[in-house]
Amino acid sequence: PEPVVIIGAGQAGVQTAFSLRDMDYSGEITLLNGENFLPYQRPPLSKSYLKNSVTDSSLIFRNEQLYESKQIEIMQASTAIKINRQTKSVSLTTGEELPYGKLVIATGARNRILPFDGGELKNVFQLRGLEDAKRLRLELQKKPKIAVIGGGFIGLEFASIAKELGAQVTIVEAASRVMARAVCPTLSDYVQKVHLARGIEILLAQKIVAINSSSDFATDLQMHDGSKLPCELVLVSVGIIPNSELAEAAGLTVSNGIQVDATLHTSDPDIFAIGDCACFPSDFSGRNIRLESVQNAVDQAKTVAENICGTSTEYGSIPWFWSDQSDLKIQIAGLTSNADTTVVSGDPATGKFSVCCFTNNRFVGVESINHPADHMAARRLLAAGRKITVQDISHPGATLKSLAK
Ligand code: FAD
Repeated sequence: PEPVVIIGAGQAGVQTAFSLRDMDYSGEITLLNGENFLPYQRPPLSKSYLKNSVTDSSLIFRNEQLYESKQIEIMQASTAIKINRQTKSVSLTTGEELPYGKLVIATGARNRILPFDGGELKNVFQLRGLEDAKRLRLELQKKPKIAVIGGGFIGLEFASIAKELGAQVTIVEAASRVMARAVCPTLSDYVQKVHLARGIEILLAQKIVAINSSSDFATDLQMHDGSKLPCELVLVSVGIIPNSELAEAAGLTVSNGIQVDATLHTSDPDIFAIGDCACFPSDFSGRNIRLESVQNAVDQAKTVAENICGTSTEYGSIPWFWSDQSDLKIQIAGLTSNADTTVVSGDPATGKFSVCCFTNNRFVGVESINHPADHMAARRLLAAGRKITVQDISHPGATLKSLAK
């Protein structure tokens, strides 16, 4: 079997390596880890890790012995700088050239930065990797006055923990509601109310135009309406950009990320791309999409492993996602942000309910608050391709669980 090289040892890269071994792939597997730690999970970094309730070692996917015993060569602090498609090799920063038979690009994404100065200031932070979370965790002990730029999942998760730890927190969001890119207005409104009730300030439809500073520290955020928000710590959480430059420089097709086909091949038949960096044709949504979730990274990795082992499997998993914000467990099954009709199942007053989402009368997913049973039922319904209707779920006594039976 041909040697497999995987660029990026995040959720998708590590899963590919282990899935290949689970499928008895006997060729060489080299995993290029651009970071200096053993590969780790990111979700806890904006959640429990900030509260000191999990240790560094519990973030690690697999310990060193497991890489050894599975004969997965993990090259720590090894960054790929060029893909040479003619010679089928990857150039590393160390000057080394690694030959591949099949190449998997799993380079993930990086944080989007603001279109003005300030990102370099000593109290302006981002949150993507372990180093970021370590620094933020230390800063939170000082209970600073915090401004979070961006009311998406990461910004809200961070804000919840910071508030719990005693900080004063203001979220500034350019859109008219929080998590607008991913969830329907009903869920945005509910979550926003919960955060407001806990004392987090949320400024909507507010654009920051500058970060004012003094002696290398941000002092306040300048809003487009002329007002100023004083702050001692700033978190910039305004989305991510796929790491697709290596692929682009190698002449592979890149759009919103590295373009792949249904079997996750790039425009080169020996190169795959998966996870946060890949844009794929989604049967589920009927268009090309790029997803930023653990589910997508893991399931795409499994599909690629199957394809390297000789099958021709199309990626068709049902998308799902979660976010923990204080005692709110938000779970999303399907893709719901474009829903035109929503039906609430359960009573929001109980703090446990779901929003069933429809687009053009098609059932597209469910957003749940503290209701894992509904979430699992929704995933079963979507996986089975069950066409439930607004009437089905609106029927007195109907629940997702009963419909999924
Ligand atoms: P990554 O995990 O980002 O891994 C990519 C790796 O490639 C990185 O280690 C990077 O350093 C490396 N790399 C890049 N370029 C090179 C190169 N040239 N050479 C070598 N290595 C390179 N998802 C959920 O579903 N639920 C959550 O609650 C959730 N919470 C999150 C919280 C945080 C703070 C973050 C940052 C993400 C969260 N996510 C969550 C998203 C999820 O973690 C990502 O979707 C997932 O990690 C994507 O996996 P990936 O392998 O594509 O990318």
